Amino acid sequence: MSTIVIGAGLAGLAAAHKLQDSGEEVIVLEAQPHVGGRTRTVRGRFRHDQPADLGASFIDLGQDLILQVCAELGVTLTPRMELFPRDPDGRATGASPLRNAVVLDGRLLDPAERDRIADEVRAALDAAPPLPTETLPAWAARAGLSPVARRVFLAQTGTNPVEEPWATQMAHVHPLHIGMACWMIADGSDSLAHALAHDLDVRLEHPVRLVRRDGRRMTVESDHGSFTADDVIVATPVTPTLRIGFDPVLPEWKVNALLATPMTQGGKVVGQYTQGREIKERLGLAAMSNGPIGVIWARPVGPQDTVVILGLVPDRADGVLRDEERALEALDDMVRTVTGVTPRRLAGIVQDWTREQYAGGVVSSLDGDYPRRPALLGQAVGPVHFAGEHTAELWETSMDGALRSGFRVADEVLQRRRARVGRLSRTR
Ligand SMILES: Cc1cc2nc3c(=O)[nH]c(=O)nc-3n(C[C@H](O)[C@H](O)[C@H](O)COP(=O)(O)OP(=O)(O)OC[C@H]3O[C@@H](n4cnc5c(N)ncnc54)[C@H](O)[C@@H]3O)c2cc1C
Repeated sequence: MSTIVIGAGLAGLAAAHKLQDSGEEVIVLEAQPHVGGRTRTVRGRFRHDQPADLGASFIDLGQDLILQVCAELGVTLTPRMELFPRDPDGRATGASPLRNAVVLDGRLLDPAERDRIADEVRAALDAAPPLPTETLPAWAARAGLSPVARRVFLAQTGTNPVEEPWATQMAHVHPLHIGMACWMIADGSDSLAHALAHDLDVRLEHPVRLVRRDGRRMTVESDHGSFTADDVIVATPVTPTLRIGFDPVLPEWKVNALLATPMTQGGKVVGQYTQGREIKERLGLAAMSNGPIGVIWARPVGPQDTVVILGLVPDRADGVLRDEERALEALDDMVRTVTGVTPRRLAGIVQDWTREQYAGGVVSSLDGDYPRRPALLGQAVGPVHFAGEHTAELWETSMDGALRSGFRVADEVLQRRRARVGRLSRTR
């Protein structure tokens, strides 16, 4: 029996890997000239082979599946790190990220002022507990935050998710469930995708345009050929999925679930600098700003005292993401402001996920009916199955969630096989 997987991101590759291990014939059709999807690593642009992750970076404590898969495939991680300090009582809340270095309107807040703001936000979170679906500005107004605390609090929507404050709900920032203990993949995030793709039949530069049902068989048409199989796994992000044609058309509930799931918009700016040890020591865990770059952090210091600094850039339609020099200068400014060091930038790269047609943005924005929507997004329509970070029941929007969805959908296909074998043996 055979399956076609559309999309060679972590979800599609995890599904194909599991199906092939179970004896299924699998072909993966990928639009891009490389595997990995939103885990993309650039190698060879920075000195000493230091990698630059243009998409996902962090694996968080509790993301046990990805930790297990990395261990099984021999994918090594960096030493464990923290991105945010905890509140003084040990809790991780919406105030915790404000205890890192904060740049407000281009000025580094002094630590006492910053801690006072974080304490004010924490007291307000306790006094006026937010509803998960309340937007950040709505809660900040209701909780009566002072003007400066409000501005600092709203700045964290440039970190995770990379989104505008008015489009971000409190469930994303409080309580805080990421960044307290995490790892990166030592030689770049897409190493995991490469390890999963090893031994798989992946056809690159095969953008899929149409999925058609012909009786019991499925036909998938890409720009470079037509393929048939018993089942199809659609492992593409929300927006690219809406651009694939389905015959028969997808039911209304599926289309509505996709349409109700916008993607956050933004990108990443990455620079390699001299004076690595000094920068890393002064930067601390991470630094956040209300400028063009929401947050910056450092990879481990490399040879000859070089360091790679990564920044998330929310797409505020201010043109920064589309102007490489402006984005890199903004990164230089932020490194200088936060550390007081004026290092030499050796190389830099900017990645705009908003304009990537086969990504459609950064991650799905599962606002509102959080628990229900991944179930609808992930539900199969006959022999057409759906995977991807947006369909994960746990750790949605992350690499771990993408893997989970891939394994879930592989189980679904295998279950159909068993059911079919059962039916055939009963009719004999
Ligand atoms: C800037 C950024 C930072 C992030 N940070 C983190 C982080 O720190 N930690 C974390 O866990 N996650 C992070 N993520 C999210 C993480 O990258 C994703 O959740 C995960 O990689 C999604 O995997 P996926 O397989 O669902 O989708 P994708 O990786 O998007 O894979 C889908 C694949 O489908 C292909 N495709 C699309 N359309 C077609 C078509 N018509 N035909 C054929 N192929 C098609 C695409 O090219 C792509 O390869 C980040 C993402 C971004 C962009």
